[in-house]
Amino acid sequence: MAHPFKDVNFEELFDAAADAMLLVDSTGHVIQANSAAQQLLEYSKKEICGLEVEALIPASFRNYHHQHRSAFFEKPEKRSMGNGKDLFALSKSGKELAVSIGLSPIKTQQQLFILITFYSADKRHNAEQALRTSEERLRIAKQAANLGVFDYDIQLNIVHWDERMCELWGEKSSESIKYKKFISTVHPNDRAVIQVAMDRAINPANNDGFLAEFRILSPNSDAERWVTTTGRVYFEDGHATRLVGVAQDVTELKKLEKNLQEQRAETESVFKQQVAAQTASAIAHELNQPLAAISAYSEVALHALNEFGHNPSTLKRALEGCVAQAQRAGTNLHELLAFLQAGELITERLDINDAVKEAVNIARRDGYKEFALKLKLEQNMSTVLANRIQVQKVLVNLLRNAVEAMRGAGIPNSAITITVRTNKDMNMAHITVQDSGYGLDTETAKRVFEPFFTTKPTGIGMGLAVSRALAEANGGQLWLEPNKRPGATFHFTLPFAP
Ligand code: ADP
Repeated sequence: MAHPFKDVNFEELFDAAADAMLLVDSTGHVIQANSAAQQLLEYSKKEICGLEVEALIPASFRNYHHQHRSAFFEKPEKRSMGNGKDLFALSKSGKELAVSIGLSPIKTQQQLFILITFYSADKRHNAEQALRTSEERLRIAKQAANLGVFDYDIQLNIVHWDERMCELWGEKSSESIKYKKFISTVHPNDRAVIQVAMDRAINPANNDGFLAEFRILSPNSDAERWVTTTGRVYFEDGHATRLVGVAQDVTELKKLEKNLQEQRAETESVFKQQVAAQTASAIAHELNQPLAAISAYSEVALHALNEFGHNPSTLKRALEGCVAQAQRAGTNLHELLAFLQAGELITERLDINDAVKEAVNIARRDGYKEFALKLKLEQNMSTVLANRIQVQKVLVNLLRNAVEAMRGAGIPNSAITITVRTNKDMNMAHITVQDSGYGLDTETAKRVFEPFFTTKPTGIGMGLAVSRALAEANGGQLWLEPNKRPGATFHFTLPFAP
């Protein structure tokens, strides 16, 4: 049978090899170079054949190479060159190429040749370099984050750990320890936390990592340290064999969190106190008026009893006044509480002109009657959507303040102008209450809506604060027209019903 390779000659075979190969004679000269070698070293076949191999080695390694070459020829055997050291070949253009080199002696009857094979070391080199870099990065990151590393051998119940980890556990030696000892340093109340995290992590069905936060008891002091650990469990044949993870001291973070919590609780309590004080003042504001009236009626009743000798009709009127005012106080309180409880706002379609007239009547009924009313109402106003009682409250408050300002200025019975119109820019019903009182200086004007701000001897300073809150709760606004003197001008808007 004909030999299957009889048609393939040596040169073709040599050329077809994927690795770069040189055939060198016993004098160290290249006598053959395959295509891969020509390409790697950037020589043509003609140029490379006849070169001494040292010409293909960077100058710094050349001197020793002669000795190595003689040594190889004395004891020719197939082996790799350089004992694992980084080797370099020199290309024609002077590039130093990282390579691994294999040497194979080929003996013929006349002489000994060496087949030199170059394996590009770049890939290996790069991989090693990448590994070194990533290990270095990991080391730096570990150091920066102050991480301790542990490796728990679940089957042998032994924990291997690094120095940082021992330090966290208050141990001196970084020798591996039994899991039992490892866990004994954990705060007794937190051991269950670790167990639960462990049970989850070693269950292959969960596919979860290990995550636990717990306290470490310091052997020398009462101080505890908070440690957070994360890790990953490794399985063999469905059984958890190792837990590898990192631990970090988060004591400072915990302290900070605690401080923040305490601060938040403190702020909350101050806020609650403020709300309580504001609520109490709002209640006082609502009761002030009827109580003053009740007191006045009671005085009249007493007077009627003393002076006029049981004048039943005066007495009756005074007592009826008392009853009406007491009822009003109750209603006011009820409404205020409903508002403070911020339940759903009950709104209705209101004719704002009617609401204004009603508020004027209420103010008069409450004893604020000494003013000349100028009403400028827009006819056929669209209806607004608001809570009737709250709208009244705002208007009555504005009227009361206006009358008080005019009384204070010593000009009672002066004019209060109430204008109702459509504010086209805002698409709102716009009510303006303008008085002829003492007005407001710039400093007072800045503060009138602040709760408790008052310039009156018996004032509470909640009227405008509550009124603004009511206006806003109804979808409108309440503001004071700046720099408008004499007198004061307040504006109140409300949305139209759709
Ligand atoms: P109070 O009437 O209890 O003082 P308000 O909140 O209703 O509380 O008013 C706060 C302050 O605003 C008043 O003390 C007064 O100084 C000022 N103020 C309110 N309305 C007028 C007004 N129409 N004219 C002048 N000052 C006013």
